[in-house]
Amino acid sequence: MPLLVMKFGGTSVATLDRIRRAAKRVGREVANGYDVIVIVSAMSGKTNELVGWVEETSKLYDAREYDAVVSSGEQVTAGLMALTLQEMDVPARSWQGWQVPLKTTSAHSQARIEEIPTDNINARFAQGMKVAVVAGFQGVSPEGRITTLGRGGSDTTAVAFAAAFGAERCDIYTDVDGVYTTDPRITSKARKLDKIAFEEMLELASLGAKVLQTRSVELAMRYNVKLRVLSSFEDNNESAGTLVCAEEDIMESNVVAGVAFSRDEAKMTLLSVADRPGIAAAIFGPLSEAGVNVDMIVQNISEEGRTDMTFSLPVNQVARARAAMEKVKASDEVNYSELVTDEDVAKVSVVGIGMRSHAGVAAQMFKALRDEGINIKVITTSEIKISVLIDRKYMELAVQALHDTFGLDRAA
Ligand code: ASP
Ligand code: MG
Repeated sequence: MPLLVMKFGGTSVATLDRIRRAAKRVGREVANGYDVIVIVSAMSGKTNELVGWVEETSKLYDAREYDAVVSSGEQVTAGLMALTLQEMDVPARSWQGWQVPLKTTSAHSQARIEEIPTDNINARFAQGMKVAVVAGFQGVSPEGRITTLGRGGSDTTAVAFAAAFGAERCDIYTDVDGVYTTDPRITSKARKLDKIAFEEMLELASLGAKVLQTRSVELAMRYNVKLRVLSSFEDNNESAGTLVCAEEDIMESNVVAGVAFSRDEAKMTLLSVADRPGIAAAIFGPLSEAGVNVDMIVQNISEEGRTDMTFSLPVNQVARARAAMEKVKASDEVNYSELVTDEDVAKVSVVGIGMRSHAGVAAQMFKALRDEGINIKVITTSEIKISVLIDRKYMELAVQALHDTFGLDRAA
């Protein structure tokens, strides 16, 4: 039997009525001749509520008990989905992570999947079961404790199952009808993409387009799992949604696939640090130990053996970063003259695999920003991405200008 993985996010299982609608979709695929593995999230808002309860109960909570609590939302929806399917005469049963068992590391609340044995579920398919409903987001550690995969982890559960069972496709049902060239709330010209390459999706996902958990895209790329993102609120035909796939499966695409942004960024500069071997390690080592996610880094040319070091970070990590830098200064490891912080910046990026073979994308980007009078504070580039840090108040304008200049409202 051909097999499909269908994943339903929190909004798609938010009420019993929506669970019924989702189950109908599953029933249709069964009627089309598929065996189906359904991965469910918790009802929308549930995981946040559970996390809140844990935090209210215990400030320095035991992460093993955090996982015991927050994984429970998926247990409920898995059971309800199986019951709903049974009511529709579709042979189905539910599995908790530990029952599969979906084996993970013991990094509680951020566990990684190690192995998914298929024999147990396949034996049931062989006996005539049509749908295996699996609770997303959770697994079991080598110690036998319940683990969770990090927020948004059900996407990763879904892709991992698709890879392990050799599914024809992994359909991710969500509350948007696909992946867009940029956030439609920022420009009405944003266009749904029919296809996007794994690498582009990875850049867009990690840049804050919150459609898929980044790790699910990494996993899909590694195992070449065809991923489709589509809405559970619309009637979908064969070509609905966005297919996230290998570059080779995309015939034509724009040089730039999308414009991503991250609103809440900050920039810190250490003025006049000694330009000597080991200085970067002395700065960024302690930042990393303090749990600061440094993104862009620029070191100025040095004059008389001193230089300035600038880096960007999420704005809510500024206090932590400042404390770490004051500590290295006090201990004389890094002797800067001043620490300058700018908490009003945003990052805007253009992403596209077409940049590999097209020159001039950066120049076109900078020109578009210049034409709007937007000053660029930091620039970084990779093979398929160019990012700039700008004043936050110009973020929307920059996204709109870049969307226009690269003609993203039109398909290639
Ligand atoms: N329910 C979990 C969360 O909200 C996992 C998921 O839905 O992907 O993060
Ligand atoms: Mg999600």
